[in-house]
Amino acid sequence: GGRFGWRDALMRYVSNPEDYQTQIYWMDSDLMAIYDAYPKARVHLLLIPLKHKIMSLDNLTGDPSHVRLIEDMQRRGIWLIERLREHNPELKHGQVHMGFHAIPSLRLVHMHLISDDFDSPCLKNKKHWNSFTTDFFIKPSEVIEALKDTGRFHPDERHFTEILRMPLKCHRCGETQSLMPKLKAHIARCTGERGWATRQALKRRESSI
Ligand code: AMP
Repeated sequence: GGRFGWRDALMRYVSNPEDYQTQIYWMDSDLMAIYDAYPKARVHLLLIPLKHKIMSLDNLTGDPSHVRLIEDMQRRGIWLIERLREHNPELKHGQVHMGFHAIPSLRLVHMHLISDDFDSPCLKNKKHWNSFTTDFFIKPSEVIEALKDTGRFHPDERHFTEILRMPLKCHRCGETQSLMPKLKAHIARCTGERGWATRQALKRRESSI
C-alpha cells in the first residue's frame, strides 16, 4: 500500500474519535477500544494507544514510557474483559483473550481482545485461525518481559510465517481438523473435556505424583 493505504485504517479512529462514536466501545485520554470491523468472534475489540503513535511492536524500546504503555494496555485489557463479561452473559462459559499479532497487517500498535467462541462469518481461513490460537498471538506479558530484559521486541518473521501455516487445531481439545468448515463445526460443540489438553494435564498430574 501507499503512504496512507489500508494499512493505516486505524489512524482515523485515533485522529478523529468524534467521527467514530458508534465504533468505539470505550475510551479515556490514553487508550481507545474499538470494535474490530471484521470480528473473528462474538466479541472482538482492538485496544489502541492515543498518545503514543507507535507504528508496531518493533518500534518499542526499553524506555520506561514504552514499558509503562504495554503495562497500561495489559491492565486496561483485564479491566475491559471484566466489563465485557458483566455485560455479555453469553460469555460466561468462555474466555476473552488479549494479545498482539506477532506480524500485524495494520500499522499503529493495537491489542486484540477476543472471545474464544470464534463464532463469526469473518473467520474464514487458516491464517485467521492460527493468528489467534497459536504462539502468533503474543500476550502483553511477553512484550513487557522482552522490553525489560533486552530493550526490544522483534518477532522473527520467518518463524511466525511458518506458524500461520500449521495444521488447524481445536483450541480446546487440540484435535486437528482438515478444513475450516470442519473446524467450525467442531468448535461449535467441543467442550474441551476430552482430548489433548485434558490428556496433557492428566499426564502432568500423574508424573508429578
Ligand atoms: P492485525 O494487524 O493482524 O493485528 O489485525 C488487524 C485487525 O484490524 C483485524 O482483526 C481486522 O479485522 C481489523 N480491521 C481491519 N480494518 C479495520 C478497520 N477499518 N476498522 C477496524 N478494524 C479493522
